[in-house]
Amino acid sequence: MFEEIGNLQQRVSLCTKCNLSKSRTNAVPGTGNIKSEVIFVGEAPGRNEDLQGKPFVGIAGKILNEALEYAGLLRDEVYITNVVKCRPPNNRRPSKEERAACKEYLSEEMKIIQPKIICILGNTAFNSLLDGESIIKNRGKIIKNNNQLYFVTVHPAAIIYNPDLRQTLKDDFKLLAQTLDKLRKGLDVETS
Ligand code: URA
Ligand code: SF4
Repeated sequence: MFEEIGNLQQRVSLCTKCNLSKSRTNAVPGTGNIKSEVIFVGEAPGRNEDLQGKPFVGIAGKILNEALEYAGLLRDEVYITNVVKCRPPNNRRPSKEERAACKEYLSEEMKIIQPKIICILGNTAFNSLLDGESIIKNRGKIIKNNNQLYFVTVHPAAIIYNPDLRQTLKDDFKLLAQTLDKLRKGLDVETS
């Protein structure tokens, strides 16, 4: 398990499968507890992430940490990653081709960690993982797809532009924590 994730991180940091490799400073593999019961999936590294080689270390990361804490989830106990592992220039959305090129890494992370639930953060992850369209219409929902549970919520960076969503994200994370509790106890959760 540890060897597998080390090998994956190594391949990500050397990867040149798409054009984003040309403009990045560092590739940003997922980080965290590989025994986590939940994986959080964002969009792509931003400027700070690109500089440090770690996911969610900038402003969006601060908002993520705050919501995790509110829900009683410890950042060190969970696993955090992105749809694409290299920063798109000017933080544009990663293209379909870039997302497709990077998909194998996310799939491998999922295979190694085998989370009870995957928390989708925002539209890019929603679209990439579940072919979903509107995060606002679907947030707070638990979705089952191919025998994997997903929890859908807004992207932490959305709060920078829409402060009303701060409490939404926190409440959603509370619901996610409660859902995890139920799953741990072997109880059923309601999916939509
Ligand atoms: N936004 C993301 O989607 N991912 C990060 O790692 C940082 C900001
Ligand atoms: Fe490779 Fe993904 Fe980075 Fe593209 S974004 S170079 S596929 S690691």
